Amino acid sequence: MTVRTRFAPSPTGYLHIGSVWSALFGWMYAQRHGGQFLLRVEDTDTKRTVEGAMENMMDSLRWFGISWDEGPDVGGEYGPYIQTERRELYQKWANWLVEHGHAYKCFATPEELKEMREAGVEGGYDRRYRDYPADKVAELEAQGKPFVIRYKMPLEGETVVEDMIRGEVVFKNSQTTDFVLLKSNGLPTYHLAHPVDDHFMKITHVTRGVEWLNTAPLHVNIFKSFGWELPQYAHLPVILSPSGKGKLSKRDQAFMDSGETVLVRADEYMHAGYLPEAVDNFLANVGWTFGDDIEKFTIEEAIARFDLADISPTPMKLPYSKLDWLNGQYIQEMNNVELAKALRPYLEAEGWEVNTDALLLVVEAMKPRMKTFPDAIPFLRFLFEESEFTETAESLSHKQLPIENAKAAYQETHDFVANAQPFDVATISNGIGEIAVKHTLNAKVGPFLGKLRQGMTGQSVSPPVYESMVAMGRERCLTRLDKIITLFT
Ligand code: GLU
Repeated sequence: MTVRTRFAPSPTGYLHIGSVWSALFGWMYAQRHGGQFLLRVEDTDTKRTVEGAMENMMDSLRWFGISWDEGPDVGGEYGPYIQTERRELYQKWANWLVEHGHAYKCFATPEELKEMREAGVEGGYDRRYRDYPADKVAELEAQGKPFVIRYKMPLEGETVVEDMIRGEVVFKNSQTTDFVLLKSNGLPTYHLAHPVDDHFMKITHVTRGVEWLNTAPLHVNIFKSFGWELPQYAHLPVILSPSGKGKLSKRDQAFMDSGETVLVRADEYMHAGYLPEAVDNFLANVGWTFGDDIEKFTIEEAIARFDLADISPTPMKLPYSKLDWLNGQYIQEMNNVELAKALRPYLEAEGWEVNTDALLLVVEAMKPRMKTFPDAIPFLRFLFEESEFTETAESLSHKQLPIENAKAAYQETHDFVANAQPFDVATISNGIGEIAVKHTLNAKVGPFLGKLRQGMTGQSVSPPVYESMVAMGRERCLTRLDKIITLFT
């Protein structure tokens, strides 16, 4: 058997991070077994379809590295992969169920349904057309009365849903109503589209949110009515909001105790300065554990150990603070060119004109200080903006570098910088290093270099002095040194 899993979002807006999480597990399971992963667009609730939502979702999935073997854009043997393009198929199979006595046409009007709901009828429908005589049905149809097709749910007995995560879940059939399968506009509900599509797309494992568990007995019965083999279900737990109350949802924007906002939309993660590898690592660790107390792993390493059956059924929160830690770890592993490239858009968004060579000089020093890419902004501000000059002769001196010594050291540094050839880290570290040793009382470079860095960048935290100076360029260094020298005259 080839494992085939799928992600089946409805294009009703943005992609929720919890959906990425469930897509990731479906994808990982297919990868683990050398199978296929499909993307299917569930757009039969046409009123809720949002233009551009599908493209946005696909972009997000791609960013997370979740790729699909079959889908609306890449096609495949079992397409189309957009449900509104499959409507004839659903109609055909809904009719098949009617013909074989598993479903029926229901002509209840919206008013009748409203009355039933208001009267508190169980499930909102009293099955009034379930056993309606065939000739009467024909009559109503001939009159052009609109109807839906409803499933004839067994009234007694139990349905067992075998779930990979939860084991056997037993439902009383009497608790499930005769759900609508085909709407009066000819489009299916999820309850019909799921069995039909997952059967014809040869899906072997259905990973989906636990909110579908209550209607799973209906789906199981529909599969049985068709005589089709059931897929294996894995109903994933709910991701809770940081308060622990209710689902993590955009509507009641979630905050952590620290007041920090929890990102809910997948595309927010894409633009917040995280690496997809880090977010995948983070998500794979939610509800599933890699084992051996290891928290940082590649998704390939996780795939090699992954099983849907090992997912915990317990609702949980996203351990959000771990994400920053992980992302910091991944940043440290980036090479300088990659990191400079990744930082560029964040710096440009500040309105800064980025010089790649200059950036490459300072990125290494920044790595241990970064959790997300925007952390580079305060660190690098001096490169792009002239900071207010608030230094004094005292603030730029040191007990190993008294005022007179400092004065000479800054003056000599100025002269050296003006003529250094080439103006690079090696040259200036030699020249300025000598000046530092010459003028500090303890003949060490530290006291002078610390003060020089402070004077040049105007920041308490910035990259090392030589790299910072070369990145600033000779002219800006000289202007800054002029200001420093003025303090000592
Ligand atoms: N369109 C459904 C949803 O977004 C899919 C559920 C499923 O994966 O079967 O909830």
